Amino acid sequence: MQRRLLLLIGSAMSMSGASAASIDCSQCNAWNKDQAPFQVFGNTYYVGTHGLSAVLVTSPQGHVLIDGALPQSAPLIAAHIEQLGFKVADVKVILNSHVHFDHAGGIAELQKRSGAKVIASDIAAQALAKGKSGPNDPQFAHLPPFDPAANVQALSKERTVSVGALTLSVVHTPGHTPGGTTWTWKSCEAERCLDVVYGDSLNAISDPSFKYTGDARYPNARADMAGSIAAFETMPCDILIAAHPEFTGLWSVFDEQGKGERAKLIDSSACKRYAAAGKARFEQRLMNEK
Ligand SMILES: [Zn+2]
Repeated sequence: MQRRLLLLIGSAMSMSGASAASIDCSQCNAWNKDQAPFQVFGNTYYVGTHGLSAVLVTSPQGHVLIDGALPQSAPLIAAHIEQLGFKVADVKVILNSHVHFDHAGGIAELQKRSGAKVIASDIAAQALAKGKSGPNDPQFAHLPPFDPAANVQALSKERTVSVGALTLSVVHTPGHTPGGTTWTWKSCEAERCLDVVYGDSLNAISDPSFKYTGDARYPNARADMAGSIAAFETMPCDILIAAHPEFTGLWSVFDEQGKGERAKLIDSSACKRYAAAGKARFEQRLMNEK
């Protein structure tokens, strides 16, 4: 969950008869607006909705999917993968930026459709297995539960996740949530290889009871957020896709039909600007808490 706290109306079973529950929220319909999938660079593809990112990284031995958006986004993401000519059954691993319903809500359904393994940071793995964040999540009071994933594997001290020849690196980016994770990998076109980053949220927002300046439920929140912002300042980064796509101006490059000049996504200052925007918001937040 990103910019502001949502008014949650509840959850309902979808009318299609499929088992995927949907979550209703003030921004959910806008977030779930469809978006044609497109190639980002090399074996990296955007398969999310218009308001919530999901990225597919492909290989001949199987694919990695990052994020599942809302529960009701899962059928769209699956359709996007197929539209690009890939098979959902070839998704071997599903990763997540952070365990809020708008990024993790569709994972259980996508796992059912693909048979993929779900791998997450230790804290995020617990939340994914329960379908609910712990009370140390700054937005705890406002978070709706979502369908839990099965057999979630915790990263522990692993620094990478591999499928066949694909290797994605783990960058722990706690602060927005205690278990937040950013993922980076190299994608190549001919001889040219670029560092691609799937960026976790850097927004210090919370329910009204939480204080980033000091809260016993998550004492490291302030240091974690500062550390995650610093991580974005220095990580190798040629292309950044953020969990909320508008945060990096993705829609100034691509339209809803997936047409756009993708060379414009290559920007080695993208992560630094993302960090700077996060830092300005965080400083304001800390001031507001005084
Ligand atoms: Zn969130």
